[in-house]
Amino acid sequence: MPSPRYFFNHFMPFTGYPYKGAPTVCNLCGSGETVTVAETDRRLKTLKSIACAQCGLIRTDPMPTPDELAHYYAHAYRADYQLAFAGGPPRHHLNRSAREATFRADLLAPKLKPGARVLDFGSGSGEFLAAARAKGCEAVGVEPGRDYSAYAREHHKVEVLDDADDDRFPAGHFDVISTHHVLEHLRDPAVVMERLSRWLKPDGVLYAAVPNMAATGKPPHERFHFAHVHGYVRETFDLLARRAGLVPHPDYWREDTTVIYRKTDAPVGELANPGLAQRLAVDLKPMPAAAYLVSGAWIWPMIRRNAKAVRDGFASR
Ligand SMILES: [Zn+2]
Repeated sequence: MPSPRYFFNHFMPFTGYPYKGAPTVCNLCGSGETVTVAETDRRLKTLKSIACAQCGLIRTDPMPTPDELAHYYAHAYRADYQLAFAGGPPRHHLNRSAREATFRADLLAPKLKPGARVLDFGSGSGEFLAAARAKGCEAVGVEPGRDYSAYAREHHKVEVLDDADDDRFPAGHFDVISTHHVLEHLRDPAVVMERLSRWLKPDGVLYAAVPNMAATGKPPHERFHFAHVHGYVRETFDLLARRAGLVPHPDYWREDTTVIYRKTDAPVGELANPGLAQRLAVDLKPMPAAAYLVSGAWIWPMIRRNAKAVRDGFASR
């Protein structure tokens, strides 16, 4: 079971997370000017999120250090978000991953030809790798979560690397690269996007998806959570890709921050989205805490998350 201190640190509303962090400049454009967009997260815990005044990329402030993020993933993430526990990923997660992998493979079908080289960066439990291989592709995954990569190797018999530095693959190596809900977790998404772009063939396609911070139908604070150190909307996601020499592919479907990109030789231009940060500060403005508490909208999500953590605690003993 997680300790009482663990519950206090990670579930008690109106208290901060156990980390110090350090201020950073914008990972996308390098600006230090910011606008505050949130002071709490989906648990009503204190967590400050700021948008870059120049380009609108949202980030956690202060940014957790690499060590603090590593510590969080090693100790808290499992119980917090039930992404893994002893014995492998939970069934409901596998079901969702399988549906999502089928959708992604259908979307990319024109490029998933026999012999095509495919990389899934953040391959999780391996469903997309299995789907690509079923179409005759040479598929390889990168997945730092050991429970997940072990599951993928064992159940899908796919090749998964724990990590991949710049020189792990030659430039222009892959026909298809996909990265599904990874870039919001990274301290340095711009460098990773450039690396993926470099590994892509000149006529290759890159599927990239992250949560859309501007999605409607959720209370604004529900969009923020400690594991997501960067937040994107359509404009900032495209700008991150643009910096890496990529543009949305006109032949493919897109929805907000689920996009298929292709390479371009056109110059990058200015890394800016004028007025976006101010717009996000308005759009993501939280309901006042008192009104939110009275509404009772927090009760069910909190029960659900605590139940998950308790289940995970039992399961991992
Ligand atoms: Zn910026």
